[in-house]
Amino acid sequence: MSEESQEQKRERLLRVIEILKREYPDAKCTLDFRTSHELLVAAILAAQCTDERVNQVTPGLFARYPSVEAFAKADISELEEMIKPTGFFRNKAKAIIESAQVILDHYGGKVPDTIEELTKIPGVGRKTANLIVGVAYGKPAVIVDTHVRRVAARLGFTKEKDPAKIEEDLWNLLPPEEATQFNHLIVAHGRMICKAPNPVCRACVIAEFCPEGRNRLGERLGV
Ligand code: SF4
Repeated sequence: MSEESQEQKRERLLRVIEILKREYPDAKCTLDFRTSHELLVAAILAAQCTDERVNQVTPGLFARYPSVEAFAKADISELEEMIKPTGFFRNKAKAIIESAQVILDHYGGKVPDTIEELTKIPGVGRKTANLIVGVAYGKPAVIVDTHVRRVAARLGFTKEKDPAKIEEDLWNLLPPEEATQFNHLIVAHGRMICKAPNPVCRACVIAEFCPEGRNRLGERLGV
């Protein structure tokens, strides 16, 4: 596996995607949203929090603040109270209000659709920017979250630790049309099977294409 060429790695990645698509045919973004701005707010809330908990908070939140303008003018104490269950609520409330103000002042109230513009917005890092581009706007995006970091490394698709470099490694391997869905498939697999800290390699449908799985299963079998 150490002498694997970039082309062989691409082919292996395509096999992995093909198998994961069969395994998780409904894999998609698990944050609930109706607009690009709702997705942005949900993504800010999802930092250090589960999507499930965010989805419990956002229906009430989006009813109380139904537009970018409403978030931009929100009373911070009231907003903090509403998002408290998601943790880090002070920073998140500040980011939600400031980002809405920037979107209003600099982008005419419309969430931009490029990584360059999105990453200038308060509270929006590369992960969220790619999420918006890929999921809200349907353009190719490589979303590097905690599951992608862990599973892509185990699969030998990156040796990097820095998310921007992982993103670059994956861009070099992924066909653009598969890039966004790759994240959803890996998240589904990371939650179900390739868990941190202990992956369930025995039950893994892509084990034969995974260097880490081969090592772990080989050790278990004593081969
Ligand atoms: S074989 Fe193991 S380490 Fe590799 S992807 Fe599957 S669960 Fe993860």
